[in-house]
Amino acid sequence: MEELTDRLTDELIVKLAEKHSLSESEYVELIRGRDTDIGSRLAKLAVKTRKDIYSNDVFTRGLIEISNYCKNNCLYCGIRCGNHNAKRYRLTEEEILSCAAEGYELGFRTFVLQGGEDPYFSDDVLCGIVSRLKDAHPDCAVTLSMGERSRESYKRLFDAGADRYLLRHETADPVHYARLHPSEMSFENRMRCLYDLRDIGYQVGCGFMVGSPYQTPETLAKDLKFIEEFKPDMCGIGPYVPHHDTPFRDMPAGTVEETVYLLSIIRLIHPPVLLPATTAFGTIDPQGREKGIQAGANVVMPNLSPADVRKKYELYDNKICTGEESAQCRQCLDDRMRAIGYRLVVDRGDIKEL
Ligand code: SAH
Repeated sequence: MEELTDRLTDELIVKLAEKHSLSESEYVELIRGRDTDIGSRLAKLAVKTRKDIYSNDVFTRGLIEISNYCKNNCLYCGIRCGNHNAKRYRLTEEEILSCAAEGYELGFRTFVLQGGEDPYFSDDVLCGIVSRLKDAHPDCAVTLSMGERSRESYKRLFDAGADRYLLRHETADPVHYARLHPSEMSFENRMRCLYDLRDIGYQVGCGFMVGSPYQTPETLAKDLKFIEEFKPDMCGIGPYVPHHDTPFRDMPAGTVEETVYLLSIIRLIHPPVLLPATTAFGTIDPQGREKGIQAGANVVMPNLSPADVRKKYELYDNKICTGEESAQCRQCLDDRMRAIGYRLVVDRGDIKEL
């Protein structure tokens, strides 16, 4: 019986690698069929697919965590407004520009400005920062990851020079979405944002947490189907990691095995996708980022935030790389990638059109 299941799962993998598409029920079957053997066969196919397009290059994004103020109260997130223990901070425009200048010297050609939904960063303020960044570094891409905003706001930021926007969809199942978020937030608005961003002309990233509370093979199958249909330029997935000051403090973290499995599947669904091996993955396993790359990921996002705020941007417990300087962070990742036969490249790291 076990052999039969293995054979069927194998057929699904071959079909996925050829057609880049499965039905929702096939995705459920593939997720349920996960075991070590199937996982390593899937990873081999994913790595081959990735190497055919990106060879052994790993793109970097310099992550600048510009604010941990947030008006939202997502149940999983350590910087939710309901967490009164969080020590709040926001970077000044000058600080952001100086992080980027330092990053440029280190070889970064993409800067990601990420933060909570902080009303201080109005369109005027954020547009000013984006245009100064683009003036200072015209050869760099600016990525924003500042949450849900109006279509007009996204348009203004795009016109100011922003190239990309990361907004994880979190889950493609509306019922699951409602269990992870307070009632003021909606699945419909999250999706509206993603389609507006795409429509305006951004390179868009979606994504979800692996092992988030109440996630099931069925909700994951919807995530995969959404990725197949939306074809994001980027897709951020990393394990859910509990934060001690949230309602989900006792929920278990996502696992290494499931994270690598899903990374490989996503590479096969959408071969050119920019797929990071995330910091959260490095948090649950000291070799997490290497394992991510060896499962088909092709991006890493070292931290460029000033060392004194890194600990405060605490989405989850035990976040790594909070005690280092930016140069150390890049060097460390460079060494790690070389050790497994890959290399960090000095490049904007745009998606390759096939
Ligand atoms: N405000 C922005 C940025 C949010 S933080 C936005 O809404 O997009 C970036 C991502 O971190 C989130 O999308 C979420 O998927 C992830 N995250 C938040 N809490 C987490 C946790 N406890 N474990 C792992 N990832 C988490």
